[in-house]
Amino acid sequence: MKKNRVTRISRELQNSIHDTKRRLGQRPFPDFISLRQHVSVSFEFFPPASIEMERKLWSCIAQLVPLSPRFVSITYGAGGSTRQRTHATVERILAETSLTPAAHLTCVGATRDEADEVVRRYWDSGVRHLVALRGDSADPGRPFISHPQGYQTAVQLVAGIRKIADFEISVGAYPETHPDAKSQEADLDNLKRKLDAGANRAITQYFFDVDDFFRFLDRARNAGISAPIVPGILPVTNFARVVEFSNKCGTTIPVWMQDLFAGLDDAPKIRQLIAATVAIEQCRLLLEQGIKEFHFYTLNRAELTQAICHALGLREYPEHSLCELNAPGE
Ligand SMILES: Cc1cc2nc3c(=O)[nH]c(=O)nc-3n(C[C@H](O)[C@H](O)[C@H](O)COP(=O)(O)OP(=O)(O)OC[C@H]3O[C@@H](n4cnc5c(N)ncnc54)[C@H](O)[C@@H]3O)c2cc1C
Repeated sequence: MKKNRVTRISRELQNSIHDTKRRLGQRPFPDFISLRQHVSVSFEFFPPASIEMERKLWSCIAQLVPLSPRFVSITYGAGGSTRQRTHATVERILAETSLTPAAHLTCVGATRDEADEVVRRYWDSGVRHLVALRGDSADPGRPFISHPQGYQTAVQLVAGIRKIADFEISVGAYPETHPDAKSQEADLDNLKRKLDAGANRAITQYFFDVDDFFRFLDRARNAGISAPIVPGILPVTNFARVVEFSNKCGTTIPVWMQDLFAGLDDAPKIRQLIAATVAIEQCRLLLEQGIKEFHFYTLNRAELTQAICHALGLREYPEHSLCELNAPGE
């Protein structure tokens, strides 16, 4: 009896030593040097509404340029409110940097002819990548109402763009299902139709539980979708605002995340450290399962995204040329 107990303990000890050895031998992050050639990132910015915001945006772009993003995308304000600013920002990126800009375009508030005109203008000015979206109501919380003579859905917008020119087209995808969708299946079918209409890739709504992303990816592959589905990563800067926005767009805030940010409303610096930890861990788990492409919702702030990219093994590439990036007056 006594002997058996000793044997059991020594087995447990052996197992535990084995586990520790295994853990010590394992890197928490995969080999950076070899991954660096494979990880690809894109960054999303919003068009600035003032000179001060413009200065911030360009300083953010200057900080992120050396990470050689595959493209940088510029959002189109809710209700189509930033049409001119989106256009101006995209054109400036094209004129003054070596980055590839992708202009977001929505169906909101425009006839098909007007939307087509915007698409042609982008093509003529040298833009080759569009992010085609339905958009939302200009009144937050109100249901989306399309323009009677406009494109009604992103599927129609993608098909319209395809008729005009040979753009690279990205579309939105929803790991936790779009709030307007009749069902998970209907939402996936809608994604399939966007890709069948000519989109090249899907970028997801942000999510925090990587299992939501992997379940969605499985469902998409099982439904015959083979196009790249790029995870959208939102580094959290203001937790309270993220909770509010997530309620509207259908993203779940996991309990562990609420715990992590609890009590930090008035501690922005600590919040920033926690935010970096959360996003780096999220990307590490995605990377571990073979995901190599990431889209960052930067909210025009560079540090968090830069820290996450650093953890992903992305470092400044010396050969990359940083063009004139000074904001006016700098
Ligand atoms: C990566 C990304 C970037 C974004 N950028 C912007 C931006 O710059 N500006 C902005 O305003 N918004 C932006 N959004 C938000 C987006 O506009 C909203 O999520 C919008 O509610 C849906 O857009 P969509 O292109 O996915 O719509 P769609 O793909 O058209 O689908 C919207 C919903 O309608 C359903 N649906 C579609 N067709 C039909 C049909 N025929 N019958 C019944 N149901 C249907 C779909 O299942 C889905 O639930 C972005 C979202 C993502 C993921």
